[in-house]
Amino acid sequence: MTDVAGERTGVPEVAVPSVDVAPESQPIGWRHRHLLDVDGLVAADLELVMRTADAMREVLARPIAKVPALRGRSVTILFYEASTRTRVSFEVAAKNLSADVVNIAASASSVTKGESLVDTVRTIEALGAQMLVMRHGVSGAPYLAAEVFGGSVLNGGDGWHAHPTQALLDLYTMRSRLGGGPSGLGVAGRKVVILGDVLHSRVARSNIWSLTAAGADLWLCGPPTLLRGFEAWAGRGAAAGRRFTVTSDVSAALRDADVVMALRIQRERMSSGLLPSLREYAARYGLTAARVATAKPGALVMHPGPMNEGVEIAADVAAGPQSVITDQVTNGVAIRMALLYLLAGVSPAESAKP
Ligand code: ASP
Repeated sequence: MTDVAGERTGVPEVAVPSVDVAPESQPIGWRHRHLLDVDGLVAADLELVMRTADAMREVLARPIAKVPALRGRSVTILFYEASTRTRVSFEVAAKNLSADVVNIAASASSVTKGESLVDTVRTIEALGAQMLVMRHGVSGAPYLAAEVFGGSVLNGGDGWHAHPTQALLDLYTMRSRLGGGPSGLGVAGRKVVILGDVLHSRVARSNIWSLTAAGADLWLCGPPTLLRGFEAWAGRGAAAGRRFTVTSDVSAALRDADVVMALRIQRERMSSGLLPSLREYAARYGLTAARVATAKPGALVMHPGPMNEGVEIAADVAAGPQSVITDQVTNGVAIRMALLYLLAGVSPAESAKP
């Protein structure tokens, strides 16, 4: 693979692994045993994930999109909350790497008989799991699982807290589309707007870490009730050299934006009084074609899904020429292959926390 990283300013040099063979058979500069959030990842880690995902994209473009890299390794996918994209793409990713995959929906397991999370995780490990992909409605649950599980835990979304693989596939999608920027991560100096229900969004919370670490000029925008607490975070971020603005002024946020990511209004997590009505929300903050026109020409339109079309995003914008929403889904497979691969190469003894 051509080494373009060194030609760009401020980009760490990373050696891209050969993903056709097992990760433990070669030196890889990755030391994280678990992926619980992106807050512990530095620019070199992000670059390694992006470039490993590039290698996985090459695998996906082959007539037989499969490598034997994780043959003999057992990956269990345990979801306590509904999911289509994240669950399926983890399964496809693990299978593309030739891992053995077990799927558990908590609603059909002994969890319904009152089994605790710790007991469930211990049982899964006793049944041979070496990697555990987990989604849970309670923030922090994967951290508890990581304390008792002997292998690697990958967080597939916990409560309002974190969704690291989504943030990394978002960064990957921006990097692929914005390309040619001053950094190998593609977003340095770019104005990226996250618009909508920030309060309940684990996607936003993880994206804040990865996008600001990658040098983006990040804006969070939504009704004041759905931005509570983020001003203080932005203040601390700015003090640490991260570019991070919080506003309810949708025109100021969208003006000259390079990327606009609309977030789902999370009705299931909404307590009463946060929004007057969905119709008013759509009128004041919905991502319409008229609003997209105030961003930079060709600005990327993103959404982590699932979408409420006509509420946070207009149907014609979601399906329009600037939308990269389908790319996000496709890139999710390459990113999750990259992460399973990188984590599988780390033994407990050599891992950095987390
Ligand atoms: N799919 C994302 C998540 O699980 C976003 C959403 O549900 O709105 O967090």
